[in-house]
Amino acid sequence: MSGTANPGTPLAQKAGVSSTVDPTILLARFGLSEFRAGQRDVVDAVDAGADVMCVMPTGGGKSLCYQLPSLGRAGTTIVVSPLIALMKDQVDSMKALGINAKLLNSSLSQAEQTSVMQEMSQGILDLVYVAPERLRNARFLEAVSTANVSLLAVDEAHCVSEWGHDFRPDYSRLGRFRDRYLKNVQTIALTATATPTVRQDIVDLLRLRNPRTFVTGFTRENLRFCVQHSKSEKEKNEQLQDYLTGREGAGIIYAATRKRCEELASWLPEKTRRPIGVYHAGLEPAQRRKVQDDFMSGKLSAIVATNAFGMGIDKADIRFVVHYNMPGSLEAYYQEAGRAGRDGKDSECLLLFSYSDRYIQEFFIENRYPSRETVQKVYEFLLRREEDPIELTLEQVRQAINVKEGAESIGTSETLLAKAGVLKRLDNSMNSAIVRIDSDAPTLLDFLPKEAKVRRRVMMAVEKIVGRQRGEDVYVTPRRLCELAKVDREQLSRTLRELRRLKTFDYIPPFRGRAVHLVEHDIPFDSLNIDFDELARRRDAEFLKLDAVINFARANGCRQRVILDYFGDPQSKNCDRCDRCDPTGARSTTVVKPKRIGDPFKGVDRDSFIRGVRVVLSGVTRMHGRFGKILVAQMLCGSKSKKLSQWKLNRLSTYGMLSLLKQSEVVAVMDALIERGLLVQKEVEERRPTIHLSDPGSRVMHAIDPLEDALGLKFPLIKRLAAAAKNIESGDVNDEAKSNPNAPDPVSASESTDRNAANDAKPATQDVELPASTTEHNQEELTSVLKRWRQKYSAALGIPAYRVLTNATLIRIAEAAPQTTTELEAIPGVGTATIEQFGYDLTELVKSFLRESGEETPIELEPVLTPTPTLEPDPDPEPTKAARAPEPTLPVEKTVAEIPAIDTPTSEAEPNQAESAYWTWRLFRDGYTMSQIALIRRCHPKRLKEELKVAAEAGHPIDAKWTT
Ligand code: ADP
Ligand code: MG
Repeated sequence: MSGTANPGTPLAQKAGVSSTVDPTILLARFGLSEFRAGQRDVVDAVDAGADVMCVMPTGGGKSLCYQLPSLGRAGTTIVVSPLIALMKDQVDSMKALGINAKLLNSSLSQAEQTSVMQEMSQGILDLVYVAPERLRNARFLEAVSTANVSLLAVDEAHCVSEWGHDFRPDYSRLGRFRDRYLKNVQTIALTATATPTVRQDIVDLLRLRNPRTFVTGFTRENLRFCVQHSKSEKEKNEQLQDYLTGREGAGIIYAATRKRCEELASWLPEKTRRPIGVYHAGLEPAQRRKVQDDFMSGKLSAIVATNAFGMGIDKADIRFVVHYNMPGSLEAYYQEAGRAGRDGKDSECLLLFSYSDRYIQEFFIENRYPSRETVQKVYEFLLRREEDPIELTLEQVRQAINVKEGAESIGTSETLLAKAGVLKRLDNSMNSAIVRIDSDAPTLLDFLPKEAKVRRRVMMAVEKIVGRQRGEDVYVTPRRLCELAKVDREQLSRTLRELRRLKTFDYIPPFRGRAVHLVEHDIPFDSLNIDFDELARRRDAEFLKLDAVINFARANGCRQRVILDYFGDPQSKNCDRCDRCDPTGARSTTVVKPKRIGDPFKGVDRDSFIRGVRVVLSGVTRMHGRFGKILVAQMLCGSKSKKLSQWKLNRLSTYGMLSLLKQSEVVAVMDALIERGLLVQKEVEERRPTIHLSDPGSRVMHAIDPLEDALGLKFPLIKRLAAAAKNIESGDVNDEAKSNPNAPDPVSASESTDRNAANDAKPATQDVELPASTTEHNQEELTSVLKRWRQKYSAALGIPAYRVLTNATLIRIAEAAPQTTTELEAIPGVGTATIEQFGYDLTELVKSFLRESGEETPIELEPVLTPTPTLEPDPDPEPTKAARAPEPTLPVEKTVAEIPAIDTPTSEAEPNQAESAYWTWRLFRDGYTMSQIALIRRCHPKRLKEELKVAAEAGHPIDAKWTT
């Protein structure tokens, strides 16, 4: 054993499988002094002999969790890792520490490989790193089955899941490999991916036995997370420019599409006076390398990039990461944002959030999930091909069958067909190159100089393969040529390109994509066993992940905590640094303080301004979280809207208090308050937010907490708000609430006197519905508004404008000015796809257009009741009830209005167990009681308890109080 190579080290004490070596002593072998958060627990679990699932973020220190236990036990640890480059780094640094680790992959010559396998069989090695392809190598399998393997570590274990972002087909063999060749050896799986689905796949496919799951180390002590809401692209660009100006250090700006990256990179350098580069997968490899090098060396101070940038980037001193568009999941967000501050110094992560960016991500998701028709088209197209294997890129197939989804959906279709057993997706390492010799000369070696050793070896190998098949295309895998010529892959390709200069020799490199081979030719599509429901579930799960990003952006509490809870980190607590914990950045070193410490109030009466803010907060409180921003603004502005009188909102004490302001101005103040976390929006129904007061908001309203600044509002609005609130007595704002918290609010007072009226006022109704009858509107102007919108989308999605909306349809929309999706749907040319993708956007656009053009006259609102499910049996059913319109009732403590409906698929939707358990857990965590959750999830408390168990197993922290 390696212990003999290092006598006197703790290795001499190597014990049996269950280690008796003190891990802290072994730690010194790695040149480390203490464990990081979570490492010790994982090491102890491995030492105790359990199968382990270790979830830690990238850079968290997963390697130590198997490297250290491997030193404390007899035998060899096999480490499966997909990234050859990283493998080499790890092995090199372990060798430098005197640890006996080796790697086994195609970068080694045959002789070297043989020697590593011999050493493995002899038990000389502590750790052997292999790439997953190695599991197909018979010599390796033979060697490994005779070796004394005492631990299998599967790094980047998410690669096992077909639905993860980085699927490696060879990983799916690992479970069988372990059983067959490693005598079921103890296994530790490591990943930074935390989604329940992928985690379940890992456990299932690696056949882990009662694995102990650890989720730790996701906290980043030095990162300040911030979110800025942006209402338009213009605003977003200003925010970005402001953010970058005067900011020091290197940074990354992530955007969702290549086009957007190019666009930003075209003006950012000049406006911010910083050298900023651009990086995306559409650039030439050489260009990409150059940008990356310039960024690493500091020549570029920032990079605008798609998510293609970052893998394997090891720049420790990145000071900020800005997301210009939100990514599709919190996993992706955290991984990208987490590239900031690797050196441990304070750094910042900013998300520029606009809800409409959701559509870009939805578009990506739709693209990944093909329709049934598309899968069928792919299958039938492949059946008609004569060649075998079929070497066509996904894009080539897509174009041939002409479907609307992107190339990714073709990949998904092939995966589904493979699962159904009718085709095989071949690994591209099996793709063949073509060699051809057209000469009659006995050997081409005579044409090569004697000293060109490598070229001669390769030519000899080629001649051996070609044999007597002169003048024909001969297929050969590069791997075979490498073996024969004893060269590595890179040498081989280079040499073959050189040899092509010989007139009588030709070489065509292998197909780069994954070829497919049809296993069956005569099964009709309809008889295939394809689980389209499963597909739908996966797709829905992606939408849920997207929602989690939106919830993060809208979160009222600590940003870091939202993320940690999402990952199921039991250590989650408030960070004290983010824009929620420390709104003005007083405690932060990363916040760029404005150079001119100009007074934002500049001669405006500050007290009046603050009073105005408190009026707004107070107005929101009085609406009891049942309405959205617009209705609150109408109430504060004293609108004569029917809707207000219908619900007696015109009797509130705050009614008309800010009548000197325009509705849009009050909305702008509310937006600023939302951004600051003093107000919160909750999605009552999909995309229908109502507005609520937060705890910090309540403290400002009651003048317990001061308001230090002007909320970042523009100066004219600061001035107008102060003027509007000038003559309001401070007592008018909150005294009734403060001096007598039990005093009935005008709303509840009227409710208690008039039961019918109360029922009218109660439903969780939003103000987003606007009048059914439209006023005259300027059609031409609306047309250009719609065109600008279309332009933006087509640019963002990288598709031609007519694919968003044709001109004819656009004009019809401008004419009809639809304000609901029902109205929109009635317009010729608008199909369900348009409704789904753009319906919300279009109706919002029309509404805000109408609102703005008719701002002076208050809009008359029709009362629209949202059908809210009855969650509680009516305690006092009246015989007359049936005669009335069915009226929703609300549970007493927490109303349905507060339940983030979008987050919580009910049990009717039959989500898979892990996912369902996760959502149940979230509700408990958010403070709902057992009986409330039973109502929300529509299932029995018994089932909830079971689900909590499942959630606990998945690593989510459970509070015993929840179930009592
Ligand atoms: P992961 O695999 O989780 O992405 P690594 O295992 O590659 O992370 O570790 C990332 C870095 O952290 C490495 O440079 C490693 O040396 C360092 N590291 C790991 N554990 C500790 C520790 N306990 N103390 C200090 N540094 C550590
Ligand atoms: Mg790692």
